[in-house]
Amino acid sequence: MTKTLKVRLYPDGDQKILLEKHFGSCRFVWNYFLEVRNKYYVEHKNDKKKGLSAFDTMKMLTALKREITWLNEINSQSLQHSLVELDKAFRSFFKHNTAYPTFKSKKDKQYFIIPSGFKARKNRLIIPKFPEGIRYRDKSAIPKDIKQIIITKKADRYYALIQYESSVQPKKGEGAVGIDMGIKHFLTTSDGIAIEPINAYRKYEKKLKRENRRLSRKKKGSENRKKQILKLEKIYQKIKDVRTDFNHKVSTAIAKHYGTVVIEDLNIQGMAQNHRIAKSVLDQGWHQFKKMLEYKLQWRSSELIKIGMFEPSSKMCSGCGNIKHDLKLSDRIYHCDVCGLTIDRDLNASINIRNIGLIKLGKGIPEFTPVEIPLAGYLNHEGISYVSLNQEPQILQG
Ligand SMILES: [Zn+2]
Repeated sequence: MTKTLKVRLYPDGDQKILLEKHFGSCRFVWNYFLEVRNKYYVEHKNDKKKGLSAFDTMKMLTALKREITWLNEINSQSLQHSLVELDKAFRSFFKHNTAYPTFKSKKDKQYFIIPSGFKARKNRLIIPKFPEGIRYRDKSAIPKDIKQIIITKKADRYYALIQYESSVQPKKGEGAVGIDMGIKHFLTTSDGIAIEPINAYRKYEKKLKRENRRLSRKKKGSENRKKQILKLEKIYQKIKDVRTDFNHKVSTAIAKHYGTVVIEDLNIQGMAQNHRIAKSVLDQGWHQFKKMLEYKLQWRSSELIKIGMFEPSSKMCSGCGNIKHDLKLSDRIYHCDVCGLTIDRDLNASINIRNIGLIKLGKGIPEFTPVEIPLAGYLNHEGISYVSLNQEPQILQG
């Protein structure tokens, strides 16, 4: 299967200039040949050959490079790749009626693709036209079977997205778990672990407000204003990084640990429309978390079961199945009047979620197994704060 590794690059001054030239030239080639193909199409609409092929434009590119010599500074494969992409966009337009290809501007995502000719040496990524190699964050090993590399830029930072083929089948986890997603706790597992939310946005809210006020005082079009905008972009990027990092750690821990994961198919957009909780909901990055969990479980051939959001997971007693209709959002403890069960509200919900999922699968419901230390230990090791709800559900007498 194809995996992607994102690596931060630290180009030096000259390399930055050359990277920018790559972004610009690939965009130029796209726009130039979009125009060429447009013209051809208009003129040959009624002919047998209505449009140009990728190969046609590649031949034209070779000729163009004799006129526009600065294009020779750029990795020719990357330029050609723009034409391959343009061709794909046209073919998809003709076949599936997707939107007609449009011109790209500096404001769009900045990137270029390197289909071959790369290697990593020490902590440097060597790509065509960069024989010295660009220094990268030496945290994860660069994989061997690289298919292609995409170089991107975001808020003044450069990244390499390394797409590679992985044949390693990671080990499948064991046991089944139900996961309740919430606002007080990011998530609660049915074996009694609650993970505290990271609230990345809230952490930076004050700083953002301050920098936004500063921005409003800068003159429009001024150099200082541009600098301030970049400063704000960097804060937003930081918030995103913190959240993504957190979601990666939690989803990896869950995927490694369990063979079957049951989760509610929450209507996140719907929840975000409730203004009272919107900020918190969006700040959790649930959507990203679920996506990560889904593909990480897939890698391990583990199961992800989604249950409907209208299943009575919160209001049902996980001990006896009684439905407590008057449970309020503010009730943190679930107390069952029928069987006397007293249990953390989210833990109760997560046990129900697991049970509903297992019933769906046609499997039996296991006994409650309180906190499994390995997962808690793993999370602790990764620097995520978690609370142990480690208590056997209490049955109150009388
Ligand atoms: Zn009960």
